[in-house]
Amino acid sequence: MLVIKNKMKFIRGILLIIIVLALAIWGLWLAISSLISIFSEDQDTNINTENENEPKQQTNSISNEATQVSSNVNVSNVNANIEVLQQWNLKLVNKDNSVNRDYVPELEEIDDGVMFDKRAISYLKDMINAMYKENITNVWVASAYRTYDRQEELFNNKVQYYKNEGNDQEEAEKLAQMLVQRPEMSEHNLGLAADFNKVDNDFEDTKAFAWLQKNAQDYGFILRYPKDKQDITGISYESWHWRYVGAEHAKVIKEKGFCLEEYIEYLKGTEEV
Ligand SMILES: [Zn+2]
Repeated sequence: MLVIKNKMKFIRGILLIIIVLALAIWGLWLAISSLISIFSEDQDTNINTENENEPKQQTNSISNEATQVSSNVNVSNVNANIEVLQQWNLKLVNKDNSVNRDYVPELEEIDDGVMFDKRAISYLKDMINAMYKENITNVWVASAYRTYDRQEELFNNKVQYYKNEGNDQEEAEKLAQMLVQRPEMSEHNLGLAADFNKVDNDFEDTKAFAWLQKNAQDYGFILRYPKDKQDITGISYESWHWRYVGAEHAKVIKEKGFCLEEYIEYLKGTEEV
């Protein structure tokens, strides 16, 4: 009986050990698996964070690059534009930007005492020749460079005309200014403006005008005082007055529908594009 009892004790002992071991192994497995899961979750989180970060970082780097590129462009544009704005052919003359009385460009004769800036005269000649080639021959430059004194004389004559009509000095000057620029405000002092034919708006109905509207920009010329820009230029529409600015600029001015004042602002970067 004792042997049997002992055997039973032994077996129970063995069973107990097996159960304890099993529990221990299970516990250990749980612990290991939870550790594994924690570790793998960590990895997932890491991957997720990385994934989330990656595009952000990419966006950041792209936007940084973009900022760099755009700021580079801006900076170089500003530098380039400052140089461009100082070019002789972009010289702005209007009520706010006067031309110095002493300014006399180097001149060359187009025809019969009509003078133009030497640096631009070939473009004017080429333009007129191109019109001739298309059988537009009823076109001539009536007036181009004017001295300060000549412009002053023209202005004073116009003022006198309005005074004779019964206006006082101030009123007469105001009226005259709509048609003839004050000497310090005239582009003709630059030698870069050409007045065609009879210097009136009948020019608008000529083949030459239609041709200029279409092609003048290729030769560097712009219609300086357009009908729809009178509030900006401060000058009445002048279909006959064409200004040399250079083809590079004239093409942009034409394409964007600017007047010269707007183009200068655009180059300065203050005009919204
Ligand atoms: Zn003119």
